[in-house]
Amino acid sequence: MFTEDLEELVTSQQPVLVTGATGYLGGHTVSRLLDEGVTTRVTIRHEGQRENVLAALRQAGTDPAGKLEFAVASLDDDRGWSDAMQGAAKVLHLASPFPFTPPETEDELIRPARDGALRVLAAARAAGVPRVVMTSSFAAVGYTVKEDNHYSEADWTDPQTEGLPAYHKSKILAERAAWDFVREEGGIELAVINPTGIFGPVLGNRPSASAGLVKAMLTGQMPVVPVMWFGVVDVRDVADLHLRAMLHPKAAGERFLGVSGPAMSFFKMAGILREHYPAAADMLPRKELTIDEVRKVAETEPSLREAATLKGRVPIISNEKARSVLEWQPRDVVRTIVDTADSLIRLGLELPAPGGKA
Ligand code: NAP
Repeated sequence: MFTEDLEELVTSQQPVLVTGATGYLGGHTVSRLLDEGVTTRVTIRHEGQRENVLAALRQAGTDPAGKLEFAVASLDDDRGWSDAMQGAAKVLHLASPFPFTPPETEDELIRPARDGALRVLAAARAAGVPRVVMTSSFAAVGYTVKEDNHYSEADWTDPQTEGLPAYHKSKILAERAAWDFVREEGGIELAVINPTGIFGPVLGNRPSASAGLVKAMLTGQMPVVPVMWFGVVDVRDVADLHLRAMLHPKAAGERFLGVSGPAMSFFKMAGILREHYPAAADMLPRKELTIDEVRKVAETEPSLREAATLKGRVPIISNEKARSVLEWQPRDVVRTIVDTADSLIRLGLELPAPGGKA
């Protein structure tokens, strides 16, 4: 069914509008849409970002073949959204601030995430676009500790959870606002994707937060890691999940968790890298901090707050719904981690010579 619906979309030549196309997930999603032959319109914040999108596509080996359109619109501003939506068949709303370092105020993230989602939904509805697929996050699902550690689409992170980082709050509040909008206003369908940690090949020169983690491990910047278990999913599979949710009749009104399999820890990830890149063995993390050590360091180090909030527990995150409803088949997590590292090496990351130091 997915293939037939995709063919119909290609034949219609109606554009799919993608926000966040300059980002990590955006690059892969636009590349996949164009590779499938789908006319794709992307929003950029300013004209200067055209080249970023094109460079990522070149790197992915994707030829836009006259099927790529640009529109200028920012999550912080009403201007541009109405034009961007005209004639769009569907909207994939990926854009949301995802900074490496915590912001000075929570509002720096919450405002563009929440108000931006509402801008996108309102403009899509006004233009008669039937469905928006929005990228939320596992951050909006599973950061309130549950006794049984099992997480599904039925769960929501409580925004009052102690120590919850601003990014997580921004994702919860944006997703909630989107569902409220659709319930109260009607006239448009919403499907939401909640990916866990996204890894996989880097496109372009802007490293993703997750690729930054792999890079930090391979270059000896993380000699110790906090105990922290989290879900992992491949960026190419998250793009695929968006396309499936965009087309499947049963996706309307639903959330879908994106996770490839059992949870991973920083230390386990270091083990996978050690096995596949023996030359980097001396660089890779050697020690895992206990949860008591993590809590203590987190008192003065905001970047460890997330690990402290999760209390060293191993979440059991289900991908059953995406598999059964959307026939989604994510790839193996080891492949994803290795492909992340390989892409960094292709982009110039140098590993020590075998047997030698960096
Ligand atoms: P990314 O590389 O940082 O991309 C973020 C995108 O959002 C960029 O295109 C950025 O545009 C855009 N954006 C941010 N603020 C904006 C604003 N005010 N107006 C317009 N555009 C704005 O992050 P990503 O990993 O691709 O994330 C994509 C989506 O996946 C986000 O919704 C994120 O929350 C979600 N997600 C990511 C992960 C992960 O592990 N990476 C996991 C779960 C969910 P500029 O280039 O102009 O800044």
